[in-house]
Amino acid sequence: MDREKTKRCRRCIACGLQETKGALRRFVRRADGTVAFDPMGRAPGRGAYVCSEECYQAARKGRKLERALRTKLTDEDYDRLAGEMSRATDDRPSENEE
Ligand SMILES: [Zn+2]
Repeated sequence: MDREKTKRCRRCIACGLQETKGALRRFVRRADGTVAFDPMGRAPGRGAYVCSEECYQAARKGRKLERALRTKLTDEDYDRLAGEMSRATDDRPSENEE
């Protein structure tokens, strides 16, 4: 309820850590009801944040992501989102794969 003038902090849905938006990973439920990882944190739609992949797994276990986004997610959805997240956050040039 309180809108402070400081940078808007978001809360990790798994551990409750508050961070500025840029430090968290965002997932968004789009208008069509699909859920996607949102690497830029700017996609329109209802968003939910986690601070780490560990918290993503915790959110998966506790079905917190679904509750935060008010939607249903299947195991396939969770796997897909985890893949999108790790691809987007792993920006180290990996050794050449064929
Ligand atoms: Zn967390």
